[in-house]
Amino acid sequence: MPAVCAAVNTQRLLDTAVRLIARPSPTGSAGAAADELAAILTEDGFAVERPTAGHPAAPAVVARLSSGRPGRTLQFNGHLDTVHLPFVAPKVSGDVLTGSGSADMKGGIAAAVEAVRAVRDAGGLAGGSILLTAHDLHESPWGDGSQLDRLVADGHVGSAVLIPEYFNATLPVIGRGGFTWAATIRRPGPPVHEVYRPDEPSVIAAGAELVARLGRLDAELGTESDPFAGAASAYVGLIQSGSIYNEYPQTCRLEGTRRWLPGTRFADADRQFRTLCTDLATSTGTTIDVETRLMRDAFRLDTADPFVTVFQSAYATLIGERLPIGGKPFVDDGNSFWCGAGVPAVTHGPTAGGAHTTAEWVNVGDLVRVARLYALVATMYCPLPSGGEA
Ligand SMILES: [Zn+2]
Repeated sequence: MPAVCAAVNTQRLLDTAVRLIARPSPTGSAGAAADELAAILTEDGFAVERPTAGHPAAPAVVARLSSGRPGRTLQFNGHLDTVHLPFVAPKVSGDVLTGSGSADMKGGIAAAVEAVRAVRDAGGLAGGSILLTAHDLHESPWGDGSQLDRLVADGHVGSAVLIPEYFNATLPVIGRGGFTWAATIRRPGPPVHEVYRPDEPSVIAAGAELVARLGRLDAELGTESDPFAGAASAYVGLIQSGSIYNEYPQTCRLEGTRRWLPGTRFADADRQFRTLCTDLATSTGTTIDVETRLMRDAFRLDTADPFVTVFQSAYATLIGERLPIGGKPFVDDGNSFWCGAGVPAVTHGPTAGGAHTTAEWVNVGDLVRVARLYALVATMYCPLPSGGEA
């Protein structure tokens, strides 16, 4: 095993994970977990910066291991916030660590921290640097990714990024972007008994027409499909109107999602959706209020980037084979790095389960594997090949 991998210390990794999990950090209130991570890194001798990045309640955590020589910067990035569920304290039982955020994604962050220590302990980098960033405001619907977007916009970004989310089945090379939407269709008058209905449009009929038009849009979008990511889509998941069979209601509310593939941007999909609703309002004589909320823009990994080659050869060194490529089943921070800075980002983390439940767990042995892999990727990627590109 390469020396940098052998330098990964399982107990030190676990202690870090347990300390992070022990600090409850529901999205928006991850300050205590961020302070804990900053304390851990400071105790370890790393200089830590705390940029607020638009969220003073929980300033982000930024640390760097620099070789002092030219080279690339490899970033390890994670979110410290957890979904809003009752807090579960950390517990280690054999090869399993449980507790809030153990899977998503404090276990992964602890592995990334341990990777930085292992690189340092094994003698440091021959060139370049490792940038470690951790932040709040990741999980929807409480967070909108804005703290990370701000970090990226303010230059806290490497030449490539590793994200230790709980996913390792494939090397994700593409992911759909998406927004959630809500449309409220209205007529002017109050709800009345249907026998007294005024000469005003039926909001239910207009809602049905919106469903039909979105159905046609969905069929059109379905012709644009990727073998890994699936198709672009327009989806209706909720429709609500009226409170009794003979009411002539005043409003009809619909909610759903719109997803797209790389090549389309949020602004394009948003404009198309709003135009469809405006046209429907005009043709039905209703008014329609539209709200859209971006999940993340679409993601693509440039597989020709040297980072991908390095990642695959480090993976093969440890596992004995390359990781097959595939799609990204969820949106994550990799989408923000690709859209905000155009840098390659690989999501690869520990084997874990129960994310977004109160029964989260992560495999300890796999946390160690992730730490070793991250450390090895850093030592291979950060120093520039002699005579190589920057
Ligand atoms: Zn996550």
